[in-house]
Amino acid sequence: MKICPGAVASGGWGWQFRDMVIGVPKESYPGERRVALTPAVLPSLNQAGLRVLVEAGSGADAGYLDEDFKQAGAEIIGSRREIFSAADIIVQVLALNANPVAGLSDLGLMRPHQALIAFLRPLATHDNHISALAEARVTGFAVELIPRITRAQSMDALSSMSTVVGYKAVLAAAEALPKMFPMLMTAAGTIKPARIFVIGAGIVGLQAIATARRLGAVVKAYDVRPAVRQEVESLGARFVEIPLETGEEEKAGGYAKAKDESFYRRQQELLTGVIGESDVVITAAVVPGRKAPVLITEAMVREMAPGSVIVDLAAEQGGNCAFSSAGENVVRDGVTIMSPINIASTVPFHASQLYAKNLSTLLLYLIKDGQLKLDGEDPIITDTLITYDGAVVNARIREFLQLPLVEPGGKE
Ligand code: NAD
Repeated sequence: MKICPGAVASGGWGWQFRDMVIGVPKESYPGERRVALTPAVLPSLNQAGLRVLVEAGSGADAGYLDEDFKQAGAEIIGSRREIFSAADIIVQVLALNANPVAGLSDLGLMRPHQALIAFLRPLATHDNHISALAEARVTGFAVELIPRITRAQSMDALSSMSTVVGYKAVLAAAEALPKMFPMLMTAAGTIKPARIFVIGAGIVGLQAIATARRLGAVVKAYDVRPAVRQEVESLGARFVEIPLETGEEEKAGGYAKAKDESFYRRQQELLTGVIGESDVVITAAVVPGRKAPVLITEAMVREMAPGSVIVDLAAEQGGNCAFSSAGENVVRDGVTIMSPINIASTVPFHASQLYAKNLSTLLLYLIKDGQLKLDGEDPIITDTLITYDGAVVNARIREFLQLPLVEPGGKE
């Protein structure tokens, strides 16, 4: 494949490829069952002139067979190395920092000016390989940085996966709780509904609320952003008010602002009562790029009744509960604390369906007339593009990596 570098728009950059080829390697994160593209999105990509190569068996764990991909217009390739060498753009679910061992070895298969679009976890606080991606001169897009703006909604892969996670977290809690969720009036007496408390009503939290309500639980929720109150209430849950001065809470993009330790201590005190009376607490409270605040201390766990369940979805960012340990379930004072990771992979069919739609929309947005067009004024691109032509070009990631600020597209 011949690659012709060149500026493509005023104030923008890009690479032109002939017969652009999209490569879908099999996911390599341990236990990962999703696939980056599904047969349903292939016709729109083919129509736009894109060839799609899929590594044999990539979709099998999610229920998408090679035969389905072939019929939808993909070419099935037996070798991973061949996918990497033939593709202009590699699309994956988890790559680089989001797939710490295998993701790094894939970097050795990539060539300058090849593009990589995936969850790259660019804000990883340890083992961050974004600079290595830049040194390999790969054009890297981190899909978790798609801005939460209206016209990017159909590309918002993080929201898609969070929706799946909120749903599955409630099922995990229901499975572990020695009680039922719904109120039941039977000849043998009345069963009270389970009391669920959701802390952090972002995408994950709102879906957890909706799922717990559908199962018949009584649900309360809390978030530092008062703006979500209406959404919480519209799902049939009660918004917990605590007398805490939160000030100007929301940053652009619908994310909360970080607070200091004294704020979180006060929050712990004020939430103790609600947590103590809950059968299940689901926590999904984070500020992107920050360690998750500890909102449930060891003492607060002791206030909960034996048999209660905490599902901490922020465990990979350090955890909202003091007992959390990413990827493990622990029992303390009779309370089960679950810290599941990579939950979306446990619903691979629908998680892949949503992700593939997000990615294909993004691909069709980025590629115009066989060119990868990177408009330096477009927030969908400037927020998501992290490496280009040998440099880390994303201002937020440069700041995070403590690199000096440069003009987008400029050299370090
Ligand atoms: P989000 O940014 O949409 O929501 C986070 C919410 O937390 C926001 O509404 C924010 O206002 C709120 N918040 C921040 N600080 C708070 C505080 N001190 N008290 C109360 N609320 C606070 O993020 P999301 O997409 O809903 O994801 C939430 C969490 O779930 C993240 O930690 C994310 O990494 C995690 N997650 C886990 C998995 C998994 O497999 N375990 C998968 C996807 C997401």
